[in-house]
Amino acid sequence: MTADVIEQSGSEEAREQEQGQEQWQRQEQEKISDNEGCSDRERSISPSSPSSRLVVEGHGDVMCADAQVTSHEVRSCHPRVKREEEQMGLYDISPDEADEPATSDDWRKNLNEETKRKLRELERIAFSDGLESEDEEDEYPREEAVDASDGRGADRSSAVSPRQLHQTQSEVAPVQTSRQEKDSTSMENARSEDITSSLEIVAQKRQEVPATHYSSQFKSVEQIFTFHHLGEKENPQRFAEVAEKFIKEWESLKVVFGRWRKNEARVVMGHKELDDALQACADRASAYQKERTSSQLLFRVVQNRPEVASIVSEAFLSLRDDFADWTEMPASHKNSACWNLLWTWSKPKIQWSDLNIWQRVNHFPEAKHLTRKDNLKRNVARYRNIPGKVGEFFDITPLTFTLPGEYVQFCTEFARRADLPSLKNLWIMKPAGSSRGRGIFVFNDIAAVSYTECVIVQTYIERPLLLEGYKFDLRLYVLVTSMNPLEVFLYQEGFARFSSERYSLDAGDIANRFIHLTNSSINRHNVNELQQRNLRSDGYAAGGSKISLEQLQRRLKALGVDWKSLWGRVVLVVLKTLFCVQDRIPQHPNAFELFGFDILIDSDLRPWLIEVNASPSLSRDNELDFKVKDALIQDTLRIAAAPAFDREAMTGMLRRRLGERSRGRWHVDKELAGDIATILHGKRPREFGEMPEELGRFERIAPSKEWDEVKSVLKNRQTLK
Ligand code: ADP
Repeated sequence: MTADVIEQSGSEEAREQEQGQEQWQRQEQEKISDNEGCSDRERSISPSSPSSRLVVEGHGDVMCADAQVTSHEVRSCHPRVKREEEQMGLYDISPDEADEPATSDDWRKNLNEETKRKLRELERIAFSDGLESEDEEDEYPREEAVDASDGRGADRSSAVSPRQLHQTQSEVAPVQTSRQEKDSTSMENARSEDITSSLEIVAQKRQEVPATHYSSQFKSVEQIFTFHHLGEKENPQRFAEVAEKFIKEWESLKVVFGRWRKNEARVVMGHKELDDALQACADRASAYQKERTSSQLLFRVVQNRPEVASIVSEAFLSLRDDFADWTEMPASHKNSACWNLLWTWSKPKIQWSDLNIWQRVNHFPEAKHLTRKDNLKRNVARYRNIPGKVGEFFDITPLTFTLPGEYVQFCTEFARRADLPSLKNLWIMKPAGSSRGRGIFVFNDIAAVSYTECVIVQTYIERPLLLEGYKFDLRLYVLVTSMNPLEVFLYQEGFARFSSERYSLDAGDIANRFIHLTNSSINRHNVNELQQRNLRSDGYAAGGSKISLEQLQRRLKALGVDWKSLWGRVVLVVLKTLFCVQDRIPQHPNAFELFGFDILIDSDLRPWLIEVNASPSLSRDNELDFKVKDALIQDTLRIAAAPAFDREAMTGMLRRRLGERSRGRWHVDKELAGDIATILHGKRPREFGEMPEELGRFERIAPSKEWDEVKSVLKNRQTLK
């Protein structure tokens, strides 16, 4: 496996952190300007992410100036609430609601500045995401948290920064414990009623979604868990285990989400009407929050590579919009399987059969059949070795032998080629399970062949296509969302990675890695200003030893290369490669994977597959990396993620299902379509072959007519050994 991730020195990490900080600030600025269309009041009560809370403070006076704040307004002027309400019809402001204390004129008229500030504080807390508090927990040692019972409860679930914490403590009036408990209990009751009725409304509304939307995808509740999809024998006991586990994990996660609600109880103003108004406001916000947290899109990025983990996390968070509001899984819930998307850099440590169909993991089980050099060789050879046209069709990699196993065959071929006058008989040796050019060398003397681990030896492409005299290869990003049937998206942007010294086949240059290897991890240490100036066209981002595919295309077109047909051949190499491994990598409905394909073009404009990387480097060393990779990760997530699912609704369905089972009604599934509509908020998961709503810079290369062409070459692959 070739995890091509570039390690960073301490100083680079620090730089990356700084860059991350800047980007975060930029994003927050954008979020602020996104709200530009709202009134100041709308802006000031936008959900309190750390930054928007600062905005609240910054615009506090503007908002304060308007005393006409009602619970309806508070709720409905919130941009996210407003849009959701409109979409879901959850909180139609019906005339009945005008009777609520929140709309009484008495308290509105009498609001003084102090009260308005308290109201604002409540709004801020009521609309805060409980999730954020969990993330911030580490910043505040437990001892610093003020006990809520003393009335100055700076519950950390609402705390944002020490400054805000201080303000919260000094601004909010003390709360009596008994009152707090009472309020808390009554609020819980009111809230759960609210939520039950909300869910009922949702369920009623969602039943309008035609059952056919789901019937082609799900036949039973058990199918929501993938073990059933994998063709395992129906096993009620197993289903019960998985269902109970899911319920338990969600209940525990809910406790974390629920922490923010403690804050509502402590903001009590002591003014009856106002209290009631605020209570109504808080209850509404609570119902809204519960609905949201229950369906929250949660990601977990496994932190074993902190330097790149943050890059992926940033990409998730930058996807925040009304449709995909991603939040990082609370750190305390390490082993929970309640996330929507898991991103790891190595084999995921998960129980695949416990996942439900709306969860996604960024690796296929057994992807090593593609990403380990010896496995790839073996799988391609199965087709390459078929005599005749089929074998020729799969001639996509340079001739390769795995050592020690194929040592004799290698020696025979080496000797045969030594007699060919047109070639220098150059070979390249690579460790089978390594990456970033480690342990690789070019040789033309068989005596140089020595190894202590499994290696491959490969004929060296002696005449690569050169640009300005330098060798380069292509780094392509290939997103596989289904292995069988195959669904693949090829990113139209990527990199041409250059060697940093002019190409030469002189005997004295054979050992020079800056000439023969194009890995950026090697060549970035030999940056050549002149070369970079020559390669990079004006106006393009600096990319170290790389240029973008877009630039390459421009340069090659200027040299008379037919890019379209070259790209068509590249697409075929990608598809043929995937064809060779398709039966080796089991399909899994929860899996997707972003592969890095390395392709070398020879002087006849023929593309050769060099290798396929699992977890291609996402680190950003230069301007070009930022430009290409940030968009790549976001586009990947948009295509790969499944729709949000409502955990609360799912838990309800599972509970009912478990009950039915004990009553012997196991097979009855009348409510399935309505349940799924509720769980998925009426959205329908994309089916195989359906074009994603947003492709970004990806193009779909399978299913396609090119893929049909590849498949048709070999009708009866089952007979292959
Ligand atoms: P790694 O996983 O260590 O990066 P690669 O197989 O990608 O190993 O090889 C590293 C570099 O060596 C490639 O980027 C390419 O420039 C060069 N290279 C690899 N194989 C060949 C080959 N058969 N002919 C010419 N150059 C090659």
